[in-house]
Amino acid sequence: MRNPNIKPRHRRHWSNITRRIFQWGFLILILTAAIRHNLAAESSSASIDALCPFGGLETLWRMLVEGRYIPKTHPSNLVLGLGVLLGALLSGAAFCGWICPFGSLMDGLTWLRKRFKLPEVRVPEAVDRWLRYGRYLVLALILLKTIETVKLWFSSYDPYRTIFSLEWLFAFNFAEHWPAYLVALVVLLASFWVPRAWCKYACPLGGALSLVGHLSLLRIQRDAADCKGCALCETPCPVGIRVAAAAPRINTNCIGCLECVEACPRHASLQVRLSPSWWDGLRSLARRMRRAQTGSGEVLS
Ligand code: SF4
Ligand code: SF4
Repeated sequence: MRNPNIKPRHRRHWSNITRRIFQWGFLILILTAAIRHNLAAESSSASIDALCPFGGLETLWRMLVEGRYIPKTHPSNLVLGLGVLLGALLSGAAFCGWICPFGSLMDGLTWLRKRFKLPEVRVPEAVDRWLRYGRYLVLALILLKTIETVKLWFSSYDPYRTIFSLEWLFAFNFAEHWPAYLVALVVLLASFWVPRAWCKYACPLGGALSLVGHLSLLRIQRDAADCKGCALCETPCPVGIRVAAAAPRINTNCIGCLECVEACPRHASLQVRLSPSWWDGLRSLARRMRRAQTGSGEVLS
């Protein structure tokens, strides 16, 4: 529950500004690459497929089994995929909050809706909880179909590819690509009304990063003893996490945008800490082993 007596502290803007610079930078980068690819007479410049880290995951199986890439994927996919994986092991799904151009587009849609002073559509909590499993289903479906068909099966529907390849601009073909246009339109409309709807409910890469996030070294922690429970941190969260109820770590749906940390009126309640969840497991295992040793020592003596 929000406490009106607690005012937001003076906002620290550095992380917000830096994040926006990153988001704009990668957005411009990917759009430039798409324009170059569409204008190039030969396929001499990288396509959007070659610049997708998720392509690295899709092609990995064939690479390991047959030593060959799935058509339209390249070493660049594996390199980008590895980079995103290493990033996720360090800081969870921060890729989504800082780098992914599609995530930035989602943030832009939310910004636009707010500018028009239109209300957000709030998905009931119980429904939201179930819908969040959607991205794991999409992830499993894509990987299975990719292995089965040995091609980038999802690329015919992938809204990220449809929008950022800019083929709708340079080579519009409704008769052939209408399913992709339809999916992209639905995703854009949904994400206009529900912040980051695609990221929360359907993105396969976001799902994969959330899974890897369980191993990540850096996590945002909430100090329950210091927290006053005002929930000011929850308002700006783009993926609707119940930050004020998290204990001690924020869950792996977090995209590391740090909006909650900035909004928190106290300094110590929310902090980014070196705090992998597996560390707790190791410590409790060590404690159990010590207890077992002590117990058996007592029995022997
Ligand atoms: S969830 Fe998917 S679309 Fe959203 S920011 Fe992450 S990778 Fe990008
Ligand atoms: S919990 Fe905080 S850092 Fe994570 S997505 Fe929400 S606002 Fe961003």
